[in-house]
Amino acid sequence: MVAEIISVGTELLLGNIVNTNAQYISKEMARLGIDMYYQTVVGDNEERLTNVLRVALERSDLIIMTGGLGPTKDDLTKEVAAAFFNKQLVFDEKQYQHVKKKLESYGINEMTESQKKQAMVPENSLVVTNPVGLAPGIIMVKGEKAIVMLPGPPKEMKALLEECCRLFINRLSDHVFVSINIKVKGPDELPLKEIGEAPVADLLGELLDNENPTVATYAKEDGVLIRVTASGKTREEALILMKPVVTKIAEILRGKIAWVKEDTD
Ligand code: ATP
Repeated sequence: MVAEIISVGTELLLGNIVNTNAQYISKEMARLGIDMYYQTVVGDNEERLTNVLRVALERSDLIIMTGGLGPTKDDLTKEVAAAFFNKQLVFDEKQYQHVKKKLESYGINEMTESQKKQAMVPENSLVVTNPVGLAPGIIMVKGEKAIVMLPGPPKEMKALLEECCRLFINRLSDHVFVSINIKVKGPDELPLKEIGEAPVADLLGELLDNENPTVATYAKEDGVLIRVTASGKTREEALILMKPVVTKIAEILRGKIAWVKEDTD
């Protein structure tokens, strides 16, 4: 399988921001053993974005696009990619509720038309809710080709990359991804200074730099979630790689863990 990155954003072309997303995704693909021969940066322009996507789909199987998923008029990624696969944008109730809830948590109780646009997704696509922002990760598959769309902000892109790609890569590559979720107890059970994301990250220390399996923390309302993800030729191989790391985390967080289970989404 060959992957290709399209980074969308005029800010990138003007040199206003550095393309750290492309660097991160490239490293991830290399780690997963997925070939990559091309990367492109394109501005927020419908015609040029369409051209770039056409070329990418001719030469690669998995196109990972970042940026241009926001609510404003120059955010075109979803529209262009959907048109390419002859898909309409349709209203997604789950995403609407997610955006509504997030905005309410910022004290915004009324949604603008452009904010509602964030709940529109290409029909029959796989949609992964953004745990740290508004725009979801979107996966569209047509035949042997797939387009994965991720939001531009690096924190959001990172939170969604693994999940979006895992859904797809498990089907196409000779690698299998297995994740184990470890849920730390919530603030109603232990004080936040012990089980908030920062103290948990401090306790995990160098484990967070581990490569296979990777260890990542996610701040959830009911406490921190730690996700350990391994890739292997088989599920069993991935689980063997994962075992010592999961055991180590269980030791480090003894008495602070609510549950441990395999991520089967
Ligand atoms: P938003 O909903 O925040 O508008 P978006 O998906 O539309 O997200 P953009 O508007 O393209 O994304 O970019 C938002 C911000 O994300 C940029 O201002 C920049 O700070 C960061 N960003 C975007 N693309 C990249 C990239 N390739 N590398 C690093 N940072 C990026």
